[in-house]
Amino acid sequence: MTKKQIVSIEDLLDALGEYMGVDEVAEVRRAYEYAKLHHTGQFRRSGEPYILHPVQVAGILVDIGLDATTIIGALLHDVVEDTEVTLKQLADEFGVEVAMLVDGVTKLGKIKYKSKKEELAENHRKMIIAMAEDVRVILIKLADRLHNMRTLQHMPKEKQVQKAEETLEIFAPLAHRMGISTIKWELEDISLRYINPQQYYKIVSMMKQKRTEREALVTSVITEVNAVLEEVSIEADVNGRPKHIYSIYNKMVKHKKEFNEIYDLMAVRIIVDSIRDCYAVLGIIHTQYKPMPGRFKDYIAMPKPNMYQSLHTTVIGPKGEPLEVQIRTKDMHFIAEFGIAAHWAYKEGKSVATNGFDEKIAHLREILELQKDTTDAEEFMESLKVDFFSDMLYVFTPKGDVFELPKGSVPIDYAYRIHTEIGHRMTGAKVNGRMVPLDHKLETGDIIEIITSKHSYGPSKDWLKLAVSSQAKNKIRQWFKRQQREENVEKGKELVDVEIKKLGFEPKEVIDDQSLAVVVEKFNFGNEEEMYAAVGYHALQPPKSPTS
Ligand code: MN
Repeated sequence: MTKKQIVSIEDLLDALGEYMGVDEVAEVRRAYEYAKLHHTGQFRRSGEPYILHPVQVAGILVDIGLDATTIIGALLHDVVEDTEVTLKQLADEFGVEVAMLVDGVTKLGKIKYKSKKEELAENHRKMIIAMAEDVRVILIKLADRLHNMRTLQHMPKEKQVQKAEETLEIFAPLAHRMGISTIKWELEDISLRYINPQQYYKIVSMMKQKRTEREALVTSVITEVNAVLEEVSIEADVNGRPKHIYSIYNKMVKHKKEFNEIYDLMAVRIIVDSIRDCYAVLGIIHTQYKPMPGRFKDYIAMPKPNMYQSLHTTVIGPKGEPLEVQIRTKDMHFIAEFGIAAHWAYKEGKSVATNGFDEKIAHLREILELQKDTTDAEEFMESLKVDFFSDMLYVFTPKGDVFELPKGSVPIDYAYRIHTEIGHRMTGAKVNGRMVPLDHKLETGDIIEIITSKHSYGPSKDWLKLAVSSQAKNKIRQWFKRQQREENVEKGKELVDVEIKKLGFEPKEVIDDQSLAVVVEKFNFGNEEEMYAAVGYHALQPPKSPTS
């Protein structure tokens, strides 16, 4: 999938010709000519003609193998923003779909921000909203950003750092959410180069020093794994896994690890034809090499929220060193690299998206639909502040409904969010199919199932400490109040009966609706239950009997 970078329109059309029909390639060329004509006289900061930018943005998307509409949209993405061409003209010339994509990208670029924080939230939200219309808008925007990052050296220094920070905070996570790891890695690596050049170049030089040594080692490991798989005649592609500079940096900083600890870790990826082969290969690897306990993860049975699927394990490798192994099918690999973009990949006219893909899209849409309810401009601005980057998280019911919860929420919050009775009767919870303790911190994208029982004793007082949302806390408090009230009503009735008997009457004979109503009114209670409760907690005392 990785070819040489597309630089010129000839490169682009050549690459397209490999997977598209001549008519579509001709249409792409027409879009190019149109964009070139209208960008005439415009130049990039590098001094190059402006048209090279949209061509190279489109090139990034051709590398992913996207459809003609997306490529045309990419070629025209700056035409409405930077030239006289109107959306209407674009729609007449290339159709509404293309115009809609360009409009989406243009809108994303036009947002003005008041402050740094708002910028994060609003940009992010606008993107999500654009995604609801068409995810391809975001793919073009990501490619646009990637190309701008690739050519960032032409920008003033101050702008470089600002763009790099914005990229790390918004665009790289966005690419990650969409599962487009190829774009994510490159955005992160370039950003780091501008934000922390010292560290960046230090890592690069350390990698260079060890490259030969490491490559020899990887090759010998691959050869041995290949031999093992050949013996059982499973067709597999065994490759070393590239290490990305930013991920090494991140592990060094966040996990306080030494460069060697991270870089020396051997990692191979095995790509096979079928899911059955994935598990077969896993079995063989575990037979041949001693697995390290606690390191096996089955992301095939339990895909990550961004659709990533793979088997992960770590074994003691041929050289007695830990060897990380990833096993997946070709389709899974495609989605691991290109994520949501795979949905629009042009492959004999149909997408290669695999199971659950459309549901995932539907989830995202649902989040958006919830947000669209806030139509009032001010309310909308308000809601922007409570976004991914601040304090809310989004979780799914097993049926795919989306619920918003405060960050740090636990299954108790979720249960009360669904329904009060579900909260009261909860006995356990499953997150992503796995039983978890009730104080398990939830994360966006988690699928949560609450286990209830009719025989549950109700919430425990501890839950008040575990719950985060005021909604859950209030409902738990109410439950305890009501519990006490019920007890008090019961106690009140008994006390009244005792007093009546003391006076020599049979309670059944003297208590009827009428007499109760009189007493309730006399003491100013709303109803008889309230009165009994008051008696129960001794707010209302029986009159001292004359004899005592
Ligand atoms: Mn652009």
